[in-house]
Amino acid sequence: MRVIAIDGPAGSGKSTVARRLAAVLELDYLDTGAMYRSVAFAALRRGVDPEDTQPVGALARSMELELDADGTVHVDGADATIEIRGPEVTRAVSLVAANPEVREEMRLRQREWAESHGGGVIEGRDIGSVVFPDAELKVYLDAQPEVRAQRRSREVEDLAYETVAADLARRDAMDQGRATDPLQRTEDSVVIDTTDLGIDQIVAMIEEQLG
Ligand code: C5P
Repeated sequence: MRVIAIDGPAGSGKSTVARRLAAVLELDYLDTGAMYRSVAFAALRRGVDPEDTQPVGALARSMELELDADGTVHVDGADATIEIRGPEVTRAVSLVAANPEVREEMRLRQREWAESHGGGVIEGRDIGSVVFPDAELKVYLDAQPEVRAQRRSREVEDLAYETVAADLARRDAMDQGRATDPLQRTEDSVVIDTTDLGIDQIVAMIEEQLG
């Protein structure tokens, strides 16, 4: 089973790079951030406090989650593709992702997904460190915070740059500071600073690593 792990903070270029790399390598692509976003979405929709560890853990275990190759996401049968990228979910997601019960369930689902897809290019925060420690290649993408905020700001049209930058900084701090599976570089990761790089350059650098 061929697994390529792509980790890094928001706005580092993970999704674009991982998608492109998957196409080049003819592997499937998994966005694990969309999974955590879906749990946050399900909690908000049901009026469950995102900080309530046990109910959110139970929700994560019982929810039906479907991620299609074209990026469509269904949560309990309903299309949540747009909502999981919205500001409410973005604000709640790091709280939900700090929940060890949620992480355990998502880890199981991610491993099952890889088994059933014959591996894949998998992006997230803890893919190389926790979910697939034996991945063929671990890539850690990073970029200067202002550049990451600018990239995100271009994607979300109705929020001011300052709001996006503040949300991103808060999310970074939570994702790096949590007790369970924090965002971190493993010693065996290939680290690429994408601040001044274009997608083609980044993908070429990764392909070089694969030999
Ligand atoms: O990648 P994206 O920014 O959509 O991820 C949303 C959130 O999901 C992150 O801020 C993080 O809290 C959580 N996440 C995680 N572990 C992963 C992927 C995402 O904790 N493997």
